[in-house]
Amino acid sequence: MPIIFEQVSYTYDEDTPWSKQALLDVDLRIEDGDFVGIVGPTGSGKSTLIQHMNGLLKPTSGRVVVNGIEVSSDSKDMRQLRRMVGLVFQYPEHQLFEETLRDDIAFGPRNLDLDAEEVQRRVEWACSAVGLPEELLDRSPFELSGGQMRRAAIAGVLAMECDVLILDEPTAGLDPRGQSEMLDLLDALRRQGLTIIMVSHSIDQLVQLADRIVVMFEGRVMLQGQTREVFAKSEALRQASLDLPEVAKIMEKIREGGVPVSSDVLTVREATDAILEVLRGDGDAQGRHNHRAVHSG
Ligand code: ADP
Repeated sequence: MPIIFEQVSYTYDEDTPWSKQALLDVDLRIEDGDFVGIVGPTGSGKSTLIQHMNGLLKPTSGRVVVNGIEVSSDSKDMRQLRRMVGLVFQYPEHQLFEETLRDDIAFGPRNLDLDAEEVQRRVEWACSAVGLPEELLDRSPFELSGGQMRRAAIAGVLAMECDVLILDEPTAGLDPRGQSEMLDLLDALRRQGLTIIMVSHSIDQLVQLADRIVVMFEGRVMLQGQTREVFAKSEALRQASLDLPEVAKIMEKIREGGVPVSSDVLTVREATDAILEVLRGDGDAQGRHNHRAVHSG
């Protein structure tokens, strides 16, 4: 079932001199199985937005309904909501604290009063889902590499068997290999049917993964739509202080240099095709690129 925001506004410290409006009239709909990227400058409301999706924050006005549960209703429903919607904060590995990886991943499921066998099944499943070898389960989480620690923290959330996984800058601070492994992991989880919502400043990463993009600016949804549509609106992105994908910037330079390559290019593969088309003297490069799918590179 979808995640729905209707005219949602949120104010921190309402009715105090330091009150701060963080969301304003947000309308959103995220369908099951969607991979949604959330972008926007610092302070634009991304973190406030995602905390409404698992009930950590409740709207000051408007409605948030997640999988049929109204965020604002009683605490019994909120427990169920937190189980369905896993939220992975920035640098989640800072929250690893148990002596072994096994105990860390088991922490959430144990709080659900599951029997020991079911807890163990979930720990092993989550460990393998994030691509960590089972041998690591009895080690201290602090012996793992940075990328492994982050995946361990995500395993702890997955062990709750959530339907929706929300991640705030999941590749921040990882080396290029760790980043690419993280993106592969998210892609694999999406293919297993999870709804994934990822806050990221990396348009290049979102171009590879996201079906839809929500651009936040000063607490409002400034733009939303299919990844390709949104990232083609370079003026709007600049207005929100967002960068174009690297490939699009290079193509822009090539066009400024007088070579008529297509402007609708977001991935390296598409750039290669567009340049080859010009070299071959194919005049219809633009038209064909307009129909290319999002995940083509
Ligand atoms: P982003 O995640 O896009 O950086 P946030 O949702 O964190 O944006 O913040 C949106 C606005 O709300 C900012 O102006 C920020 O200063 C303010 N804000 C965020 N958290 C709090 C808080 N706990 N108390 C008061 N103001 C906050």
